Amino acid sequence: MQAHVIRRPNPETFEGKTYSLRPNSAISDEYYETVRRLTENLLRSFPNEQELLAKLQVLGHHKRALRRLLTNEIHSNDSQLLKTLRTSLNPFTSGVQSHLRSLRGFDRWSRTLTMSEEQYHLAMVEIELVNRIYAAQFRSCGKKYAFLPHCLRDLGAECRSAQRDIDYVCKGCSESCNVNHASKTLRLHGVKPYIWMTADLSALFRKVKKEGNSMGVLGIACVPELVRGMRMCLKHDVPVVGIPLDANRCARWWGEFHWNTVNLEKLESLLKN
Ligand code: SF4
Repeated sequence: MQAHVIRRPNPETFEGKTYSLRPNSAISDEYYETVRRLTENLLRSFPNEQELLAKLQVLGHHKRALRRLLTNEIHSNDSQLLKTLRTSLNPFTSGVQSHLRSLRGFDRWSRTLTMSEEQYHLAMVEIELVNRIYAAQFRSCGKKYAFLPHCLRDLGAECRSAQRDIDYVCKGCSESCNVNHASKTLRLHGVKPYIWMTADLSALFRKVKKEGNSMGVLGIACVPELVRGMRMCLKHDVPVVGIPLDANRCARWWGEFHWNTVNLEKLESLLKN
């Protein structure tokens, strides 16, 4: 019987299972410039930001309809929008098709694992647009929380993070840990950073609002998880902003953890007034 071999991401191209915001480059600035430009262009055709947001969310919910829009020769504003996104964002989602073909068993029913390439493109612009709409409101909130993924930590360190009031908090044990770097930046801007392990966000929203405080959330996660988390916050009327991980490289996607990064300059610019 042939032994099962775990394929590992290519470190040279900073490969993610489905997406990478920095294929062949040390930082993801080109991705952020691309998605910023795309959002600006789309806003020229929409009367306001909220209408564009609603359009992206509605389109993103209908995976099969998206496919049809792209494969049929029917020309519509929606098919044109998808084609525009595909042309610009394709280089960052090159792993989606092979990942979808490799799915087995219950994984084929997971909404996170089965996102199509078109849904990734819509989600990327949605995240950028939500940041644009809610950044100022987030910054003005009385209480600001950030939730970071544990896969961003230094995988070679004996992590000393500890459970505190609502979730785990980084103890700064490693200078090469990206959770540590992000946590320091967040604290400098008055945001309480947590490593998201156990926090019940709905319960937290209810508690903070009951106390009469305004509350904002900043999320860092892979694209599928981040866009879902941001929608959940907005459903609760909580101003939210988010930064996608530079690639999806955790055990859920690869069967084992791989070192990951996030664009810290982008994080800082989102926090600055
Ligand atoms: S710096 Fe923080 S998150 Fe990173 S390994 Fe240490 S305690 Fe864990």
